[in-house]
Amino acid sequence: MITHITTAAKFSKEDIKAIFSLSEKIKSQKFNKKLLAGKVMATLFYEPSTRTRLSFESAMIRLGGSVISTENASEFSSAVKGETLEDTIRIVHSYADVIVLRHFSKGASEIASKISAVPIVNAGDGAGEHPTQALLDLFTICENKNINGLKIAMVGDLKFGRTIHSLLKLLSLYKDVEVKLVAPNLLGLPSSLKLELSQKGLHLEESENLKDSLFRSDVLYMTRVQKERFTSEKEYKKYFGKYILTKELARKMKKDAIIMHPLPRVNEIAPEVDKDPRAFYFMQAKNGLFVRMALLSWIFHKS
Ligand code: ASP
Repeated sequence: MITHITTAAKFSKEDIKAIFSLSEKIKSQKFNKKLLAGKVMATLFYEPSTRTRLSFESAMIRLGGSVISTENASEFSSAVKGETLEDTIRIVHSYADVIVLRHFSKGASEIASKISAVPIVNAGDGAGEHPTQALLDLFTICENKNINGLKIAMVGDLKFGRTIHSLLKLLSLYKDVEVKLVAPNLLGLPSSLKLELSQKGLHLEESENLKDSLFRSDVLYMTRVQKERFTSEKEYKKYFGKYILTKELARKMKKDAIIMHPLPRVNEIAPEVDKDPRAFYFMQAKNGLFVRMALLSWIFHKS
């Protein structure tokens, strides 16, 4: 059976345990450098990326595999000539053993997975999901905090922020996790997702106030307003700069809390916060490499 990673909902607690145990080994340099020798990964990116594409490519190379890539598929692939995603996948799956796909349209990786004879990994599908980011986020949380009983505040654009959507799905697997959703009313979490998560037992609370959400949180997860999803610059500007974590605000947080961000940050975390020992966002991005190495090993082991 082919293991496609289209949504974070595909992971069970056991899957996550297995992937994290591999990630820990890899992080401590205990891994077979030839594990994926002879395998080829295609990165097909229709939207910009720094961390996701480069960490996936580095992960594959470090495991002995090779990479073929179109970093700007919207401009440089046959999509410009009018080729559909389906046709592109029909071609690329004969050139590669795994396809890492980033696309501007929600559900694109699900469509690709119906066609592809090799695993599809969703590296972000529009305002949908970003399951591998959620894995590295959860790994970073579990390295530093007890996941059962965790109190997390998620701040910013929760409507379009795909990393949030996927991370919430993973969090819903654990006991007594309390989530404070901090967003302007119109950028709140989609109600269908809220319902799905509540039915799974995740405790959700909504607020528009960042300050009041800082005191009790073990994790503060900041996000960027997703400019590219707005239809007008004017609309985007209404929300830009609404939530900014400054040094002064960070003083209100728990001493042992951790600050996370999927990056890129625009202005949500003032650079002065970078020196705070609770700033974990760069470590979080670094963990992306280990977790993606573990995920690739796991996919090939399972497929
Ligand atoms: N890098 C993340 C993503 O691709 C977060 C962001 O772009 O704001 O979704």
